[in-house]
Amino acid sequence: MSTREQNIERLSSTHFDVLIVGGGINGAVSAAALAARGVKVGLIDGRDFAGFTSQQSSNLIWGGIKYLETYEFALVSKLCKARNTLLKHYPSAVEEVRFLTSIPKSFRRHPRLVWAGTWLYWLMGRGYTKTPDYLSTRRLKQEEPVINTSACRGGVEYSDAYLHDNDARFVFNFVRSANDKGCIACNYLSAEKAVRDTDGLWSVSVKDKVDGNEFAIRSRIVINAAGAFVDNFNTASQINTQYQHIFSKGIHLIVPKITDSKRVLAFFADDGRLFFAIPMGERTCIGTTDTPVSDPNTPVTEEDRDFVLDNINARLDLSEPLTRDDIIAERCGVRPLAVENESESGVDFLQLSRKHVVERDPDKPYMSIFGGKLTDCLNVGDEVCQKVAEMGIKLVSNKALENTQWYGEPGTEQHLSYCQRARTLSLDEIRLPGSNETLLVRLWRRYGMDAFRMLDQIEQDRTQAETVIKGAALFRCELRHLGEKEMLTSLEDLLHRRTKIGLVVSRDTLKSSVGTMEICHSVFGEQAQIKFDEYFSR
Ligand SMILES: Cc1cc2nc3c(=O)[nH]c(=O)nc-3n(C[C@H](O)[C@H](O)[C@H](O)COP(=O)(O)OP(=O)(O)OC[C@H]3O[C@@H](n4cnc5c(N)ncnc54)[C@H](O)[C@@H]3O)c2cc1C
Repeated sequence: MSTREQNIERLSSTHFDVLIVGGGINGAVSAAALAARGVKVGLIDGRDFAGFTSQQSSNLIWGGIKYLETYEFALVSKLCKARNTLLKHYPSAVEEVRFLTSIPKSFRRHPRLVWAGTWLYWLMGRGYTKTPDYLSTRRLKQEEPVINTSACRGGVEYSDAYLHDNDARFVFNFVRSANDKGCIACNYLSAEKAVRDTDGLWSVSVKDKVDGNEFAIRSRIVINAAGAFVDNFNTASQINTQYQHIFSKGIHLIVPKITDSKRVLAFFADDGRLFFAIPMGERTCIGTTDTPVSDPNTPVTEEDRDFVLDNINARLDLSEPLTRDDIIAERCGVRPLAVENESESGVDFLQLSRKHVVERDPDKPYMSIFGGKLTDCLNVGDEVCQKVAEMGIKLVSNKALENTQWYGEPGTEQHLSYCQRARTLSLDEIRLPGSNETLLVRLWRRYGMDAFRMLDQIEQDRTQAETVIKGAALFRCELRHLGEKEMLTSLEDLLHRRTKIGLVVSRDTLKSSVGTMEICHSVFGEQAQIKFDEYFSR
């Protein structure tokens, strides 16, 4: 029996304290926080974990500097604090990064005022990051020659943070952490609806997207963390809520690297919104947009592409402007934004707050998570725990958790011992393709304590420290772990979510690389060719 089959068997036979529907960031942190506090928790997702919005973000962990303009000081303060906590507890996954913002001559505020705003932001961030800096137009050009400064009035530089690997990887590590603490998690299981049985337990009917089988999962509490589909699941389950979602679409284009510096370049787009050129190894990720849509399943349109390309080309001094032919990959997602039901009409879309709301049903043991950001994820986990406790489930207290916090990378001692061992294998001398980073750093950031097992593999067989696909940062020693522990059902799960290879290596290169088939054989065994064809036929 495969691990997936075992998990399905356990999901159908266990009475859970809490069943979480949706394994994006909100569901994954809820599962990790509850499992660490001794709650019997199940987690399902109708797609792959982080298979919807949580794989489409800008990968920024930020305090929301732009919300200063709308005077949302409490939100900025909260997000800055959340950012600092993530920086502190994920020293390798969450990295401070400098944002260099060009101020156009036509901008609505004087550059010095923007600079003052960055200082206010820094103070609201409790001075946790490097201090801001003001740059004259001449210095802006010196620092980043790629910026077209002809229409600029200077610039400001300040710090925020970003996810070194992608957002989906960050989410999956919460799923893995939940799993390690007893949560039973399974992807490609879609919840149809929740019905309350006469014994007071919920019965959630579920459909397996892999083989079409249907079964029910029973639980005392249901948490609806279905992101953009929260309202649909609530309607199917006849749950009324005070909040609901409206959607804002955002796209990113991934193009060849436009600058060698590791800064995020920030610009004001023609519509006045901030947009970014974000470093992604040998690539740059450009975006994003903010368009109201009614359907969460929305594609990138020609208009979206042109908006991003026109805006970035107007702000850069490139020898050749970027064109559609330069696009290596695209990301397209919808932000589920929480609005109160009565404010549905007449809402000022762009000014709408990005706060999250955990709404508890007044009569039933059921809650829905609306809105939110990756940045704020730990607060969601804690809030969910508090509400679950209020519903009568006994949780291990925060105090008892002191030595085993529910989030964060392993401690300094474990890290030191890992580094010592990795150095004896010279992993600090193996550079990742197109980067200064070493294999030593990379394995720890992605796999934490599981990286020790990879060191054993490398010790026994040196070819395990070689890359599998030319130009892509995936090493042979990772394959066994990915196949055995990372709940992969399709090649896309691996290329787009557990890693970001599918975003930085073109489809044609992947298709013609022998390494892609090696991955399929290692991870999917006899199903290798089927999984390969399934991915490339899309
Ligand atoms: C373009 C863009 C840029 C962004 N940039 C940032 C950023 O830089 N920093 C930041 O902090 N935030 C950012 N965000 C916001 C952030 O990405 C989202 O708020 C967050 O990912 C939403 O997570 P979620 O768990 O609510 O939803 P999702 O990630 O969509 O997760 C919900 C999950 O529920 C599953 N599901 C739905 N229905 C069912 C069902 N019936 N049964 C089982 N499973 C179901 C889905 O498959 C999905 O995986 C950005 C968002 C967008 C769109």
